[in-house]
Amino acid sequence: MSGPRVVVIGGGAAGLMAAGRAAEKGARVILVEKNQTLGAKLLLSGKGRCNLTSAEEDMETFLSAFGPKGKFLYSAFSRFGPAETLDFFSSRGLKTKVERGKRVFPEKGGSEKVINCLIDYIRQGGVTVYRNREALNLEIRDGRALRFILRGQEVEGDAFVICTGGRSFPKTGSTGDGYRFAKRAGHEVVQPVPALCPVRLKEKWPLSARGLNLKNVSLTLLKDGTVISRRFGELLLTHFGISGPIAMDMSREIGDACAAGNAALFLDLKPALTMDVLTARIGRDLEKYAGKMFQDCLKDLLPGGLIPAVVQKAPIPPDKRAEYISAEEKKNLAHLLKEYPLTPDGLLGFDWSIVTSGGVDLREIDPKTMGSRIVENLFFAGEILDLDGPTGGFNLQMCWSTGYVAGESAASAACREN
Ligand SMILES: Cc1cc2nc3c(=O)[nH]c(=O)nc-3n(C[C@H](O)[C@H](O)[C@H](O)COP(=O)(O)OP(=O)(O)OC[C@H]3O[C@@H](n4cnc5c(N)ncnc54)[C@H](O)[C@@H]3O)c2cc1C
Repeated sequence: MSGPRVVVIGGGAAGLMAAGRAAEKGARVILVEKNQTLGAKLLLSGKGRCNLTSAEEDMETFLSAFGPKGKFLYSAFSRFGPAETLDFFSSRGLKTKVERGKRVFPEKGGSEKVINCLIDYIRQGGVTVYRNREALNLEIRDGRALRFILRGQEVEGDAFVICTGGRSFPKTGSTGDGYRFAKRAGHEVVQPVPALCPVRLKEKWPLSARGLNLKNVSLTLLKDGTVISRRFGELLLTHFGISGPIAMDMSREIGDACAAGNAALFLDLKPALTMDVLTARIGRDLEKYAGKMFQDCLKDLLPGGLIPAVVQKAPIPPDKRAEYISAEEKKNLAHLLKEYPLTPDGLLGFDWSIVTSGGVDLREIDPKTMGSRIVENLFFAGEILDLDGPTGGFNLQMCWSTGYVAGESAASAACREN
């Protein structure tokens, strides 16, 4: 068989999309994956339900979720953004639904449905998949990529797309190999660090409240007494500390503040209530429970799993009777519920981080093609790039958009060569 050859390394979200699109554009595509299965990380995404994109319609707002680097994605999103992504999946029979926070999920089933659509896409394009085949090295001559050395084999191509992901959840296959290939091609790699990562706390009480999902709470990070960040939403208590969307989304700042050695967190358990309203509410509850001990008066106010931690920190003896609790004590309790102190003790690390921050330096990548500015027939897509967004479908959307554009551009580059 002859024709332009595109080699895609990595069969995750970005690699599957890139391979499918390159094939659709007429290239002969080889997809190399070191696992036996494709999309190992996708399968875990969204707790197995796959939050595949966000229903945010305003492009500026969408891109701003990636911080200042978000503008790099403008061109890719204009070509293949959230609307095109939804069309792509719905044209392959995947119905989606929008949930809280504009998160988009498959209507029925979970991540496997998303993977099946992508596998159909590459099958239709006649993509050859090399499974269980680890890429070891990239050979470059005279500013052009020639071949990839795989374990026990070599694979030549006219264009190459590197989609090996970051360093997060290495058990899914993303062990940072692509950074080595990028460096070999002469690219700078911005130091990869864990992002969207659970936070370890010095306090031990979350262990007994593990699994408790606190909805509508607010978390504030202070560094040297100054507020650095504040998020409102869902927080999960775990055996080591905190996780869930707001902890994850603040994790990079928490990690930085911990490294500087002066971080403090405060949890507002009742952000919708002012101090005065909360104090009055506490007063009514204590009246209702007159005759009972303080520790037995909080069940209308707090989830059961949290009561021991609040009682232990409260400025009120646990066995004090409700009717004897003073106005001052009620106010202090309200204050505790609005500013419950937590002591961060670092992040859990790459093994548990949802994404990697850092990666191939965007200044050396053409945002219109995802092509290397250093090696003309080399392209990058997905988490290997120095791009990371918050939870909510942003990271997968980045993979779909950059994968699509990289696949298409690689097919064009390969055609030119052939
Ligand atoms: C638990 C979890 C839940 C998540 N949930 C969501 C979610 O709901 N929504 C969302 O938007 N994002 C979510 N994310 C993030 C999102 O899944 C990733 O950002 C995305 O999957 C990255 O895709 P990728 O293709 O760039 O890399 P990966 O999915 O990491 O794929 C890279 C592939 O390359 C292969 N590979 C690596 N090195 C080599 C090599 N040397 N040779 C051959 N193959 C190689 C790997 O085996 C892997 O299959 C989640 C992440 C995790 C860990």
